[in-house]
Amino acid sequence: MYINCNDTELFVLKKIAQAAEELGLPCYLIGGFVRDKILGRDTKDIDIVCVGDGIELAENVSQKLSPKPEVHFFKNFGTAQIKFNDMEIEFVGARKESYNFDSRKPDVATGTLEDDQNRRDFTINAMAISLNKTDFGELVDPFNGIKDLALKNIETPLAPVQTFSDDPLRMMRAIRFATQLDFTIEQKTFDAIGENAARIKIVSGERIADELNKILLSKKPSIGFDLLYKSGLLKLIFPQMVDLAGAEYIDGKGHKDNFYHTLQVVDNISEHTDDLWLRWAAVLHDIAKPATKKFEEGHGWTFHGHEVVGGRMVPKIFTKLKLPQNEKMKFVRKMVEMHLRPISLTKENITDSAIRRLLFDAGEDFDALMTLCSADITSKNKLKVKRYLENFEMVRKRCAEVEEKDHLRNWQPPISGELIMQTFNLQPSRAVGDIKNAIREAILDGIIPNEYEAAYQFMLQKAKELGIGH
Ligand code: ATP
Repeated sequence: MYINCNDTELFVLKKIAQAAEELGLPCYLIGGFVRDKILGRDTKDIDIVCVGDGIELAENVSQKLSPKPEVHFFKNFGTAQIKFNDMEIEFVGARKESYNFDSRKPDVATGTLEDDQNRRDFTINAMAISLNKTDFGELVDPFNGIKDLALKNIETPLAPVQTFSDDPLRMMRAIRFATQLDFTIEQKTFDAIGENAARIKIVSGERIADELNKILLSKKPSIGFDLLYKSGLLKLIFPQMVDLAGAEYIDGKGHKDNFYHTLQVVDNISEHTDDLWLRWAAVLHDIAKPATKKFEEGHGWTFHGHEVVGGRMVPKIFTKLKLPQNEKMKFVRKMVEMHLRPISLTKENITDSAIRRLLFDAGEDFDALMTLCSADITSKNKLKVKRYLENFEMVRKRCAEVEEKDHLRNWQPPISGELIMQTFNLQPSRAVGDIKNAIREAILDGIIPNEYEAAYQFMLQKAKELGIGH
């Protein structure tokens, strides 16, 4: 076998080979599984191409496995899928494709293995391994994908301009693979992306979002965002991010290039979290800087309120990018809105009250916020970064001390609305809310400790002031 498979994989591949032989269908492993095995990457998705009916092959393979897996098939596409152990195996008949200009969905006809390899997007994704008796395990690699793997090169098997025009999603895929694998896109192939960028409009938002998320979940997402920017794709799919690029100068004073700053923050945060949404927060944290930018005499460049305006932009951007409109979006918005809060506490003479308010407002997202804020510390000057990070660690320490004492991160009011109503014989009303808020503010301001007895006494006093109850 040209690639290294574990015992279960080999067992399944032998069953597939046996089924294919019984049916007289030449059959091959193809695509991502071959690529990833050669690279030594983890992979669970197995793609099988056979010269004939893929669904018939899947049915036969399923008969040979125990417990017998269900065959999910899509008659229109001539594809079938089975799940066995933790593997997902997809079967497809070899095909030839021809494209129409206004759609990325091709007309499909049955074809040979060669036809099928021609329709693949990149040379590294077009390698096949024979599962046939005569040459079981041999590599079939008409485009020398193996060389491109060694050179870390992404290149289309056929003319790149045509390949990308046919299915423009491939442009996103090229950039996504370059990011995930840390490969370079061959120059002609990259130029063809620039030439075809406008064709991205025939790709659905969901597919674009899928690729963006994969780029963002890579080890170093900046590779992908920079390629999207340089190819002209980013301007078309996410123009607000392109607006961050560049630095303006007035009176010799410039501001930093917020696009490259953002990319640095995204890379920084990716060293500390795999959470897609926290990574999105890093992408979006300064998104309103262009909209809020001003040059103030004597001050230089300011971006007042960019965190609030940026927060407001999050739902719109999520809608446009077909990202979810749910708790995840709210989380990203909260992170954008709060991203300056921790760093503002690195100044001297910060009161416990300010720290308590940060803990209270961030709540269960406090750790995420601190991760974002520390990733946001970037500068060309290494000493400056070091000093800021040290100051930031002090804030972290103070927060830990105050939290230990006051327990505000998952704060529950020590006095419930129920108790307030009972004590003063009140119906649900504004007065109940006023007393509750007053207790919370008193705790955050450090007037009373975060404890039942103190809060109870405060409640009695506050009610008296407000003329409530007796
Ligand atoms: P990953 O699982 O990381 O997305 P993959 O290469 O397995 O990588 P799939 O989307 O599962 O990607 O596709 C399997 C194979 O199908 C690819 O390796 C490639 O050969 C082919 N393929 C997928 N999408 C396209 C496309 N848009 N154009 C041409 N070939 C494609």
